[in-house]
Amino acid sequence: MKSRRKRRKTLLTVINLSLLFSSLLALLALFFLLRQPEQSKENQLESASSQQVTKQEEKASSEQVNWTVQDQPVKIPILMYHAIHEMAPEEAANANLIVSPTTFESQIKRLVDEGYYFLSPEEAYRALTENSLPSSKVVWLTFDDSLLDFYTIAYPIMTKYKVKATNNVITGYTESSKAGHLSIDQIKEMAKNGMSFQSHTVNHPDLEMSAQETQESELSQSKSYLDTVLKQETTAIAYPAGRYSQTTLSLAEHSYKLGVTTNEGIASADDGLLSLKRIRILPNTDPDTLIASMTS
Ligand SMILES: [Zn+2]
Repeated sequence: MKSRRKRRKTLLTVINLSLLFSSLLALLALFFLLRQPEQSKENQLESASSQQVTKQEEKASSEQVNWTVQDQPVKIPILMYHAIHEMAPEEAANANLIVSPTTFESQIKRLVDEGYYFLSPEEAYRALTENSLPSSKVVWLTFDDSLLDFYTIAYPIMTKYKVKATNNVITGYTESSKAGHLSIDQIKEMAKNGMSFQSHTVNHPDLEMSAQETQESELSQSKSYLDTVLKQETTAIAYPAGRYSQTTLSLAEHSYKLGVTTNEGIASADDGLLSLKRIRILPNTDPDTLIASMTS
């Protein structure tokens, strides 16, 4: 009697346990069934959004702003920066390439206060080819050499003021994860948030002194790398150290719409879309000097 009751009790416990287990299984299955379409939707959205980032931005900016055809030939101040950090004493030889974070922020703040519109490369191209502007005051910020401090120092400041800039990437350094330079993940993250990444060749050679084949590969391979990793149409090139020849310009025409140099001045279509002037920003360029150099 006793053992039968015990057996019945065990049987009941087993039935209860298996009921509990199967209802748990059913709940789990239900959870995953409901969740799966959501997850795949998220994935689809994610991949679609990374592809459409540039398109959306272009669309958004062209929807929000009215482009006005100008009577006078359009002139664009293209600012040229390299490093943004406090200069170390041993960097004195490169002093002209380094702007302190405080100076940089004072320049950005002044540009925003003055009502400047910050152009993307696509917008700069439109402005120069259609002789049209999205605002009476425009500026295009460019940084050469894809240095790490663009991510750690300049980007947070520009995010604070909601402005955009272009960094000209030495793609070979990105591919080989060279220390002190931007990683592909940092570039992708910033590209998602409005920053633009254009070419500064693969290995940063003096193009003017390079053989034609070298120039060809430096120009085309850096573009195809950026096109592929950022799913974009790379449109601009900055010639390393501003060195280029007539051959460079004819070769650049195959891959790019715009080329920026280190020739000092305000850019205009008259100088040629592949040999645009820029304004070099020096460590001592205070906001007043900056505005004066952009408007003279
Ligand atoms: Zn450079």
